[in-house]
Amino acid sequence: MKRTYNDINLQNRNSFGVVESAAQLVEFETADDLRDYFAEQKPAKWYVLGGGNNTLFTQRYDGVILSPTSSKRTILNDDGESVDIRVEAAHDWDALVEWSVEEGLWGIENLSMIPSSVGAAPVQNIGAYGAEAKDAITTVEYFDTKTLNVVRLRNEECSFGYRESIFKHELRGVAIILAVEFRLHRTPKPNLGYGDVIKEVEARGGATLRNIREAICAIRSSKLPDPKILGNAGSFFKNPVVAKEVAERLLKQYPDMPHYAVAGTTESVKLAAGWLIDRAGLKGYRSGSVGVHDRQALVLVNYGGATGSEVIALADYVCSRVKECFDVAISPEVNIL
Ligand SMILES: Cc1cc2nc3c(=O)[nH]c(=O)nc-3n(C[C@H](O)[C@H](O)[C@H](O)COP(=O)(O)OP(=O)(O)OC[C@H]3O[C@@H](n4cnc5c(N)ncnc54)[C@H](O)[C@@H]3O)c2cc1C
Repeated sequence: MKRTYNDINLQNRNSFGVVESAAQLVEFETADDLRDYFAEQKPAKWYVLGGGNNTLFTQRYDGVILSPTSSKRTILNDDGESVDIRVEAAHDWDALVEWSVEEGLWGIENLSMIPSSVGAAPVQNIGAYGAEAKDAITTVEYFDTKTLNVVRLRNEECSFGYRESIFKHELRGVAIILAVEFRLHRTPKPNLGYGDVIKEVEARGGATLRNIREAICAIRSSKLPDPKILGNAGSFFKNPVVAKEVAERLLKQYPDMPHYAVAGTTESVKLAAGWLIDRAGLKGYRSGSVGVHDRQALVLVNYGGATGSEVIALADYVCSRVKECFDVAISPEVNIL
């Protein structure tokens, strides 16, 4: 069943909490709802909105916001070691992680507390603490708005990369994800090699699923602002990937600069955007209702009442300062409308 709302306020549907509206919002349950809608209405402009945790509205959206409402979770297969599950797009991501931990299933525990709908998880291949959604995803099922058919893509067909997938490129504006399938495991496979995770897990008595989840939730809560209290969209900028000569030049000047290898090449190096912003002197910087978070420079925050345009003006300022200081371009991870 689908429900249509005209002239809808989006303030409670985006984690920045900016006050913007859309001409129309359509909530849908099934592929048939979408097929009917696209066949009858042929919408010229549309956007799929999950939880709005990675979307910044900068003006009234004069198209249709499509939002999934089905959140069924089904076990497809259980061979005693691996368990295949199908989860519909509107299922809350962290509720899925909590369920997996409760069931003793390994694979997504490091992705605890990422605010997301399951349908959005493959789009940017959500990742944290050395894990990515792609490590557990087997299949993504989507509605193709061009052919009006349901398509199933296997993991290797999704072009997953760092915060990347086919859904941000070839299938952008085409695919509406209906469900995602995952394979989780009963055999313990702790992934503790990232940051303070091992220390926090040991402090809780060792590498159980529950301890890992609690450790990661504690680390995240200490570093990231809660969007319910302070509007934000998590990391606003992507970590830039630069030519190795650029990294070498910067390392001569800043030997303590964090830098990471890029899979599959020795010619490029990934830098930490948060470090660059911090070193540009902007951690805690505030301009009116918006600012750079004082504990995590990658996060831009809405102190209350900000518009999307104010957030963008701040983002532009941050990018220009980083460019001036290091001659490195950084760009937003957030979807800007
Ligand atoms: C406090 C905070 C912390 C965060 N930490 C992390 C982190 O550690 N790691 C990380 O990777 N991200 C992180 N993020 C970003 C965010 O959690 C992810 O981008 C998440 O996937 C957004 O989910 P959503 O449902 O809210 O997406 P939305 O903002 O609603 O949509 C995001 C994108 O996905 C598309 N989309 C959504 N649903 C569908 C669908 N069903 N079909 C097709 N396209 C769809 C949208 O069109 C848009 O392009 C954080 C955000 C916040 C606010």
